[in-house]
Amino acid sequence: MMNSANATPASAAATDAKPSNFLRQIIEKDLEQGTYAQRRWAGTPGDAAHHAAGPLDPAKIRTRFPPEPNGYLHVGHAKSICLNFGLARDYGGVCHMRFDDTNPEKEDTEYVNSILDAVQWLGFGWEANGQNHLFQASDYFDFMYRAAEYLIEAGHAYVDEQTPDEMRANRGDFGKPGVDSPFRTRTPAENLARFREMRDGVHPDGSMVLRAKIDMASPNINMRDPAIYRIRRATHHNTGDKWCIYPMYTFAHPIEDALEQITHSICTLEFEDQRPFYDWLMDRLCETTKRPDGQVVGGLLAAPAPKQYEFARLNLTYVITSKRKLAALVNEGKVNGWDDPRMPTIVGLRRRGYTPAALQAFAERIGVTKSDSWIDYSTLEGCLREDLELKAHRGMAVLNPVKLVLTNWDEVFAAQGGAAYLDPCTLPALPHPVEGAENPVRHFSIGKEVWIEREDFEEVPPKGYKRLFPGNKVRLKGGHVIECTGCTKDANGTITEVLATVVPDTKSGTPGADSVKVKAAITWVGVADGVSAEVRMYDRLFVDAQPDAGGKDFLESLNPNSLKVVTAIVEPSLANAQPDQKFQFERHGYFVADRVDHAAGKPVFNLAVGLKDSWGR
Ligand code: ATP
Ligand code: MG
Repeated sequence: MMNSANATPASAAATDAKPSNFLRQIIEKDLEQGTYAQRRWAGTPGDAAHHAAGPLDPAKIRTRFPPEPNGYLHVGHAKSICLNFGLARDYGGVCHMRFDDTNPEKEDTEYVNSILDAVQWLGFGWEANGQNHLFQASDYFDFMYRAAEYLIEAGHAYVDEQTPDEMRANRGDFGKPGVDSPFRTRTPAENLARFREMRDGVHPDGSMVLRAKIDMASPNINMRDPAIYRIRRATHHNTGDKWCIYPMYTFAHPIEDALEQITHSICTLEFEDQRPFYDWLMDRLCETTKRPDGQVVGGLLAAPAPKQYEFARLNLTYVITSKRKLAALVNEGKVNGWDDPRMPTIVGLRRRGYTPAALQAFAERIGVTKSDSWIDYSTLEGCLREDLELKAHRGMAVLNPVKLVLTNWDEVFAAQGGAAYLDPCTLPALPHPVEGAENPVRHFSIGKEVWIEREDFEEVPPKGYKRLFPGNKVRLKGGHVIECTGCTKDANGTITEVLATVVPDTKSGTPGADSVKVKAAITWVGVADGVSAEVRMYDRLFVDAQPDAGGKDFLESLNPNSLKVVTAIVEPSLANAQPDQKFQFERHGYFVADRVDHAAGKPVFNLAVGLKDSWGR
C-alpha cells in the first residue's frame, strides 16, 4: 500500500484506478520506507557536492526515458514512454527526457527532433516544478572522464593493451573462467599516464581500452573486467571533436542516472546481466576511501544510488521493433519512409490514424511483466477502435462504386422539379447523442442517381441475401426506401447500372418512414454531391506473425498486398475533413484524412482499423 503521507490526492486517485505491477509495488515500498526521502536535487544534474548544496528533492521519484537518437521511435518505445512518464505522474515524481548520445557514430539531430515530437504527441512533457528536465548524456562526458580517473587512482581500473582477439579469448565463456590480462597489474600511476595519452590522441583507435578491474573468474561474464572507455576518433553531434575517447554504454548509463538523481532506472530484460556491474559502479563512485596518506577521497556521486529494474520488452505479432530493421525497410524502399502508415514507428502509427489515447490505453492494457511474450496485434487495434468508437464522426463512403438509378424519380418529385431535384437529408455525425452537447449533423442529398457498393446488388441473390436484388426493398441509409427492378450491363456482361424505384413518402425522419418494412439499409453517396477520394487500404506489413524471430529474414515475409489504393466516393462532410481528422466510414472501418497528402479538393484517406477484429481469420 502507498503511504498516504507521500501521496498527493491526485496521485492516489490515479494509482487506485490502475492495476498494480511489480514496478508499482517497488515504488510504493520505496515511498513507504522513505528510501529516497532525504535525497537532494540541486535543480540540474551533477555530482554529490552539487546536489548536497541543493534543497530536498520536490520529486518523490525520478524516472527517465533515455533513447539513443539513432532512429525513429517505435511502438515498443511508446510502451517505455508511457511506463516511465506514467509512473512519475502517478507517484508525484518527475520523468527526465534524456538523450543517450554517447555513441558518436550513429546519432543525428534529425532523430533528436523526431523523438521530442513523439514524446509530446503521446501526451507527456519534461517540464515540472518550474524546471526543464531535458538532458543529454554527452553533457556528462567531463564527469565520466573524472570518474574514470578516480577508478584508476583507486585501483579499480586499468588500461589494457591486448588485441581485441586476445581480449576475447581471455574472457573465457560460461564454462571457462577468464584469464587475467598481462596489463592488469600495472600501477595506478602507470594506468593514469596511459589513460591520459588515450585522451590526448597519442594512440590509434582500437589499440587499447580502459577496463574496470573486477573479477576475471566471475560466473557473470559482464563482471570479467568490462571495457569502460575506448578510443574512437569520431565527430560527435554535440561535442564535436573535443573527445577521441568515448565511454561504453554500460559505464555511461549508470552515471547518467546518478548525476540526474534518478531513483528507479527502468530498462528492458536484456540488461538484467548488466545489473551487477551497474551496482558495482554505483558503489565505487558513491563510497569514500582513505588513502595511505590519510586523505579521504571518493564520494563522487550522491547516495543513495539509483537502482535498475528490468521489464519484458514489447513484442507485437506481425511487427518488427528494431530501429535497425525498420531502417532497412525504409532504405530498401519497402515502405514509403519512416512515417509510412504501415510502419510501427510512432510517426507511422500517427499517420495511420492512431491516437495518443489509444497508445496510452494499449500500454496500460499490456502491462509490465518480467517474462518475454508476444502481444497480439489485435490488442493494439482494439485500443484504437475503442477510442474512435466514441469520438469519430460517421460518414458514408462507397469504396467500390456502381451507379444506382431511381427510374421513377422524375414522376415522384415532379412537383419539386423532377429529374434535377435533390432531396436534402441529414444524419447525426455521432451515433449516440450526448445530452447538452452540440451533436453535429451531417448534410447531404439524394437525387435520381446515387452510388452504391457493387457488392450490394445481386442479380440472382444467394440464400439469405437481404440487400438489392430484383423485387427486393431496402432503405438507402438516411434516405428513402427503394425497390430494385433490375440492372443494365455492357457487352462483357459487367453491370453498369442498378435500377430501382423510390417508394414515395418513406424518407428517414418523416412520419411515413416506417410505413414500409425493410430487412436492410445500405450505404450510398449521391452522384450530385459525392466527391471522389483516394483511399489507401492498408493490411499487415508481414504475412508471418513473428517476421524476425529466430534470426529469420524479415524481408522474405513482406505482404505483397499491404497497400491497395482505391478511388472511392465520399459524402460532402468527409470531403471537407481536416488533415488528421478521423472518421468511421459506416460499415467499412475507421479512416483518417492523411496528414501529409490530404487537401481541400483532393481528399486522401488511410484505413486506420476495420470495424471488427480480422486478425484471427
Ligand atoms: P532498438 O533495438 O530498436 O534500437 P533500443 O532499445 O536500442 O531499441 P533505445 O533508443 O536505446 O532503443 O531505447 C530507449 C528506451 O526504450 C530504452 O529504455 C529501451 O529499454 C526502451 N525500448 C526499446 N524498445 C523497446 C520495446 N520493444 N519494448 C519496450 N521498451 C523498449
Ligand atoms: Mg539501442
